[in-house]
Amino acid sequence: MSVSRPGENEDLADLIVHLARLGQSAGDASLTAAQWTALRYFARANRFSRTPSAFSEFHATTRGTASQTVKSLVALGLLARHSHGSDGRSTLIEVTPDGHAMLEHDPLRALRSVLDALPSEMNHALGQALRHAVADLAQRRAAPMFGTCAECRHCEPGDEASFCHCTQALLSAPDMAALCVDFRPASRG
Ligand code: SF4
Repeated sequence: MSVSRPGENEDLADLIVHLARLGQSAGDASLTAAQWTALRYFARANRFSRTPSAFSEFHATTRGTASQTVKSLVALGLLARHSHGSDGRSTLIEVTPDGHAMLEHDPLRALRSVLDALPSEMNHALGQALRHAVADLAQRRAAPMFGTCAECRHCEPGDEASFCHCTQALLSAPDMAALCVDFRPASRG
């Protein structure tokens, strides 16, 4: 097994942060990086996770800050609040048609296309390494991890439909591809 050179992982950590900032630095400047992150999150999150508190965990920020970001996007007409649950007290956030139109100008599109252009083995290895690093860091910080059903230990695959043992719900194809706040990686505790 090869060993990292001294300073190599400092460079890597700086590179990852630089790549993230560069990826978010262009596009429609009318939204902040936090607003773009929220818009993207609510477009990708499943029905159990489209709440301001789940977004605060995803964005590693306080509930107050996350609520302010959501509120600003609701005021811009890019997100909408809907009552959720039998008592109607909890709130589910949905991306509006204007929000989906805004996502066509997502600054991350350029970064996605750069990643798409990588040779497939490199792209696959990078994805695996980053997922592994995110899982390790989340565990060290006791932070929740977000992921999708195919790699979740709560998911029981079925021929007709898969079943989630956490939410006790059948999972549709869109559910399977969506981000989930209750995700638990299959290989971890
Ligand atoms: S199987 Fe896992 S990722 Fe999918 S909805 Fe259930 S808890 Fe979330």
